[in-house]
Amino acid sequence: MASEFDDAMDSPEPPSSVFPPSSDGSAPAGAVFRGIPGSPGVAIGPALVIGDTRAVYARRHIHTTQVEAEIARVAEAVLAAKNTLKEVSQRLEAGPARDTTPILDAYLVMLSDPLLHEAIVRKIKDERKCAEWAVAGASEEISKLFLPQSPNEKDSYITERRHDVEFIGDRLLRALMGDAGVSIPRLSEPTIIVARDLSPADTAGMVKEPAIALVTEVGTRTSHTSIMARALEIPAVVGVEGALFHVRTGDMLIVDGLRGEITVRPSEIAVADAMTRSARHLAFARGLLSTRNLPCVTACGVGVALRANVELPAEAILALDHGADGIGLYRTEFLYIDRVTQPDEDEQYEIYRAVIEAVAPRPVTLRTFDIGGDKFASSFRLPAEMNPALGLRAVRLALSQPEVFLTQLHAMVRASAHGDVRIMIPMVSGMDELREVRKLLTRAIRDIDARGLPRAEKIPLGVMIEVPSAAVMADVFAREAEFFSLGTNDLIQYALAIDRTSQSLASLASPFDPSIVRLIAGVVRAARDHSIPVSICGAMASDALAATLLVGLGLRELSMEAAAIPEIKEALRRVTVAECETVASAALMCDTAEAVEGIVARAFAPRLYDLLAGSGEQPPSEADSLDVVR
Ligand code: PEP
Ligand code: MG
Repeated sequence: MASEFDDAMDSPEPPSSVFPPSSDGSAPAGAVFRGIPGSPGVAIGPALVIGDTRAVYARRHIHTTQVEAEIARVAEAVLAAKNTLKEVSQRLEAGPARDTTPILDAYLVMLSDPLLHEAIVRKIKDERKCAEWAVAGASEEISKLFLPQSPNEKDSYITERRHDVEFIGDRLLRALMGDAGVSIPRLSEPTIIVARDLSPADTAGMVKEPAIALVTEVGTRTSHTSIMARALEIPAVVGVEGALFHVRTGDMLIVDGLRGEITVRPSEIAVADAMTRSARHLAFARGLLSTRNLPCVTACGVGVALRANVELPAEAILALDHGADGIGLYRTEFLYIDRVTQPDEDEQYEIYRAVIEAVAPRPVTLRTFDIGGDKFASSFRLPAEMNPALGLRAVRLALSQPEVFLTQLHAMVRASAHGDVRIMIPMVSGMDELREVRKLLTRAIRDIDARGLPRAEKIPLGVMIEVPSAAVMADVFAREAEFFSLGTNDLIQYALAIDRTSQSLASLASPFDPSIVRLIAGVVRAARDHSIPVSICGAMASDALAATLLVGLGLRELSMEAAAIPEIKEALRRVTVAECETVASAALMCDTAEAVEGIVARAFAPRLYDLLAGSGEQPPSEADSLDVVR
């Protein structure tokens, strides 16, 4: 290993804890940048710009006197990363995954690679970058050497090597930050996080941090940064192009999650205006929350069950606080993310049990892991694919690793003893998959019975309808599935062939597209014909206008992020089913998304203006109320 690191180990200089300017460019004072509103609210505060690898870190320029200390920190991190890998390797050697230990041994060698170390030291010494920034920069530089020379070049060996370099950079960064799980630097004051993207694990780590708003360069309303920000009830603006370039750490920012814009180093007048808007939004949100214990019934008295989507066990309580009638989607893949080994049966069982007991006697729908696509889990070695969203993902991945899947099913069956539990399969595209999962579930039930452990007598097995083939075949699926849940985030992505993570195409990925409206209508009809429950758990359900359309299409069960429940309840309390049905019938005759949205907006936007604007404001005129949805 490069001796430079060993020499510097005993340097006395502590790393800096202040955040000097970080970015390469900076916007003029008062500059406004537009993005996509990811989560409502308005926040004002200093920015913390973090790096853009999968582990996130604060970019700091360091002083000359800190160079040796930063090099020493890297040396310590190399040791820590090696120790972690050795521990994992030893554990694996004793188990069924022992074949993977040579990969870890290769990683150990790569951690000592002089090319990597020289690049890191150069960045610390010559460019005065902090250790995290230097590690990320060096690993990016080296991984670029493995990029294909032409768009047609598809060498899986080379791609794997690039992923290996990225993995090593990631481990080193995490070791530098001293914690394998939480990668956001500890914040001592309320701060606005600015990043290229935030992984689910990064945002999960923020539950305990005083982040008051999020800004990302990529993302859409249905990406995980937005979903998490809404769960944490902090404003977010996503898809702000060039945010990392224009914002410096320490810059004052206004993040307006209602308008979808950020202001860099705003004037006093802009700050005063933002504070008024923020106060109005907070008062409005508090007012809505005060109605959480009212029943969700339409103005004509028809009940609609509003359930919560959760990703972390802690959100179960948040869901109840917002008046959720149970959990309609528990995304269990979050248990697998950001760790080297997979959660065992007992660990999963305890977590499911805690969530189920927290919301009992209300129902909980446990979704089996949906990993792959945009949901990366380092504990699975996924193949490098040209189109991961169309690749080995969700139920396909589960069926390709039946032992891993059975562990999850065992844990779910055991957890069913503690409440009203349903099991749901993601990304089902054909009947064979449902039948295969049914077989494995039957086996899991037999195993739990053989162990003499308690379980619910009946555990309904349902499917997500989020692949167009499943929507088209809904009448066939309804013969064997015990319930449906429409996953419109993916259904829109796959039906319209629009990447759900692409912000430039986000405006085209409309839930009001007539093809989506027709697919939903067909799925609801199939469920009704076979007398099975049907719900929706895509982000469409958390849009007040779309929710009225869904009720008109026959849905009586909507699942959404907890924070949206009070708003949707209030919206549905102001409309009748007959009105919604009239709108839905007209929508089914439309030819464009604009026409569908126009019909729904003309019928309901004036009545829902305050909810759509995210504040208590009333429109000066009816035309203005339509503007708010454009
Ligand atoms: C969906 O696709 O609509 C859904 C709810 O699942 P996820 O967002 O987790 O893919
Ligand atoms: Mg989905």
